[in-house]
Amino acid sequence: MSTIKFETVIGLEVHAQLLTESKIFCGCSTKFGLPPNSQTCPVCTGMPGSLPVLNEKALLFTIKTGLATNCSISPFSRFARKNYFYPDLPKGYQISQYELPVCEHGHVDINAGEGTRRIGITRIHIEEDAGKNIHEGAGPYSFVDLNRAGVPLMEIVSEPDLRNPKEASAYMRKLRAILRYIGVCDGNMEQGSLRCDANISVRPEGSTRFGTKVELKNMNSFKFVEKALEYEVKRQISAIKNGEPIFQETRLWDTVTGTTQSMRSKEEAHDYRYFPEPDLVPFMPAKEWVEDIRSAIPELPDARRERFISDYGLPEYDAELLTSEKALAEWFEETLKLGAQPKAASNWIMGELMRLFNEDGISIEESPMTPAGLVELLKLIDAGTISGKIAKTVFEDMYKSRKTAAEIIKEKGLVQISGTEELGAVIDQVISSNPGETERCRAGEEKLFGFFVGQVMKATKGKGNPAVINELLKKKLAGQ
Ligand code: ADP
Ligand code: ZN
Ligand code: MG
Repeated sequence: MSTIKFETVIGLEVHAQLLTESKIFCGCSTKFGLPPNSQTCPVCTGMPGSLPVLNEKALLFTIKTGLATNCSISPFSRFARKNYFYPDLPKGYQISQYELPVCEHGHVDINAGEGTRRIGITRIHIEEDAGKNIHEGAGPYSFVDLNRAGVPLMEIVSEPDLRNPKEASAYMRKLRAILRYIGVCDGNMEQGSLRCDANISVRPEGSTRFGTKVELKNMNSFKFVEKALEYEVKRQISAIKNGEPIFQETRLWDTVTGTTQSMRSKEEAHDYRYFPEPDLVPFMPAKEWVEDIRSAIPELPDARRERFISDYGLPEYDAELLTSEKALAEWFEETLKLGAQPKAASNWIMGELMRLFNEDGISIEESPMTPAGLVELLKLIDAGTISGKIAKTVFEDMYKSRKTAAEIIKEKGLVQISGTEELGAVIDQVISSNPGETERCRAGEEKLFGFFVGQVMKATKGKGNPAVINELLKKKLAGQ
């Protein structure tokens, strides 16, 4: 058996659909899910004689993305024709970019559990999306829907800097977060507005040459990206160990079997006969324009995470999670403005709120709970009006009924019992109905104390003030 260790090398090509209202070279709508071919015109259906006009916003969004990922913005950039034949591409070529992309030489930082790692971005270019072939549900026929043809895309190409599947998905998550923070892409992987082709190879540890890479497609979630890559690492290593060659090819991830299957051998750039697009002028973005775009970039996830740690004293874990989505970070900061303690608010958001979101499959944008609602609840806990335990049920009730905490507490009679007289009476009752336990506890069986706390809580339906109960119980069990 060979004992060579292998190193994995991964580079991602991420396609992000830009959040423009109209397509890249015509005025058709980019809306998702409308009847097939209802959003088309002579330009995006490739009619002879029609001419493209660039949507300025697509260029602006791409420059914004380049700036947010530390790229340099090319002073001179142009489109290129990528020629290939496929039924979903009516012109017979895709307008893309080749030798002069809009952005180059950037990076993003990730942390997949081994500290911060910098992942290089080779380039970001603009291109148009193709249509969609539909093969299901139409008997022996296939259909072509051109609603997506001409929708603006960015292709973000990484350097082969990723070293395992976890890093690949961490990188993808970081990119998604940045794109959503700057509002250029909705990041919806299920609907395909964020997609990735993953290139992967393995090589003996210590080797300086890369192995032959395979391109993986068809992974529409972070989980599948990771799974497909994990499968492929194993497949490639075992092939090499068995003395079999790795072919440069495109393989499709199959969700059902959990394997990758060969689709076709990989094309080379010269197969596409790229040449500069003659129907569009090159662009030379003015420096002032680029600076205007830069100044409109909001605080990005990494900076926000660091600020949450330094300004609010949050643990790294909390800060990372709370800044993963801009809307979530804003929701959290809103609670602080209203007077919440950072760690208390963070605990409730990461615990109860996220749990309910997961149950309902919704995100922060659709939250029925408001920052003001959470702060109201936190204040009631601090004031001792309700116990922390009861607060959890009140929280869930607020979330589900959209009533205020005060309304729920009043309706259900949930006010915390802190009165020593009232609690003292309950404790006396509990002690006298448990003579055996009382004796053992008094004889030194200290762990029975918890039993008494539980009994008192039960008798008060969870409304007893734990601090007061503890104090009174100690006294009474000591016979005072
Ligand atoms: P191609 O010419 O096949 O398009 P590129 O060199 O342009 O290949 O790279 C495409 C993507 O593949 C990039 O994200 C790059 O980082 C990645 N890549 C290149 N070589 C390798 C390799 N040997 N192993 C894994 N990924 C690679
Ligand atoms: Zn059109
Ligand atoms: Mg390439």
